Amino acid sequence: MVFRILQPDTNSIWQNDEVLKRFPRYKGIIDGTQIARYIIAKTIDCDYNSSDTIENLEILQKEKSLEFKDILKKDIEEIKHRKFSSNSYIHLVETLANKYLEKCIFCERQCEVNRVDGQKGYCLISKDSYISSAFLHMGEEAPLVPSGTIFFQGCNFGCVFCQNYDISQSWKEKRELEDIAKKVDVKILSSIAEKLAERGALNINYVGGDPIPNIHTIIGSLNFQTTNITQLWNSNFYLTDKALSLIIDLMDFWLPDFKYGNNTCGKKYSGIENYFDFVSRNHKRVHDEGSGEIIIRHLVMPGHINCCSKPILDYVAKELSNAVVNIMGQYRPQYHSFNYPEINRKPTSQEMHEVKNYASRLGILYKPVS
Ligand code: SF4
Repeated sequence: MVFRILQPDTNSIWQNDEVLKRFPRYKGIIDGTQIARYIIAKTIDCDYNSSDTIENLEILQKEKSLEFKDILKKDIEEIKHRKFSSNSYIHLVETLANKYLEKCIFCERQCEVNRVDGQKGYCLISKDSYISSAFLHMGEEAPLVPSGTIFFQGCNFGCVFCQNYDISQSWKEKRELEDIAKKVDVKILSSIAEKLAERGALNINYVGGDPIPNIHTIIGSLNFQTTNITQLWNSNFYLTDKALSLIIDLMDFWLPDFKYGNNTCGKKYSGIENYFDFVSRNHKRVHDEGSGEIIIRHLVMPGHINCCSKPILDYVAKELSNAVVNIMGQYRPQYHSFNYPEINRKPTSQEMHEVKNYASRLGILYKPVS
């Protein structure tokens, strides 16, 4: 029996009916009345060869995704009695992920480098994954604490204000990954996740840097994980549609950033194209086709209320009715933001009020997690 130590607000958060209504499966997994999606995926048999073409594997993956959704509708007792397959839906998406790795399209940078052969794209991560730390995080949003958080080294973004620049950006200029992080394969990652679960984590929280360059390792680790625990994707969400298809059925909970309310600011401060188009597409997809249990993190940036905060909140109100938003006020000038005078300060309390008042007027749920 594992006894969980919860923070007071973590206990009381579930007395909030609206939070309970938005996250029923997540709460059910904590209570043992629901089964984590990745465990259900292990019971789906897939008939394929690893030599099959990407196109054929993608067709099969779409079919199996529909089968997965049908099983989700079944009674919990029926699901509990399903047997694990030796060639399951998780094996299928792991195979597909490793094929994508040969011409990497995990994120919308679409570098198309062969990471299996040791080539590196923008993120500078080859086929191997590295983690900088893994621990029970007590500082995440109240429903998530304690969170079994695994920090991957490296990131596909180049945010000039990066608040995690030591593990995301700055090592690229001077260090080898091997010197600063621990290399993990699928079995090692799985054992780290299992240990976090044993120590009372309510979820396994894949973050970084960003987990996107490590999708293949994370999926592979699910073949070895066995605990009925929520799998949580904590990311900048700049995945390709194909990469999101690999994990959309396996993740129970989504913790995506929503930074910019337009493409121009994304280009200027993170060096990426079409930010709003791609990221809003992915939010919409996990809301409508995935678990739909989402806490969106919006970091309020100074002077970016009208161009970023308000358009994001408008989008959430219109398209993501089940999402809860963490309106974050902890922006600080960091890393290279000193070179951008307009964001070289904290947001003012007046700016924070303006954003929160706007969210309230739109009926967005943010107070329990902000
Ligand atoms: S994860 Fe993104 S940045 Fe990294 S190699 Fe693949 S496409 Fe490029």
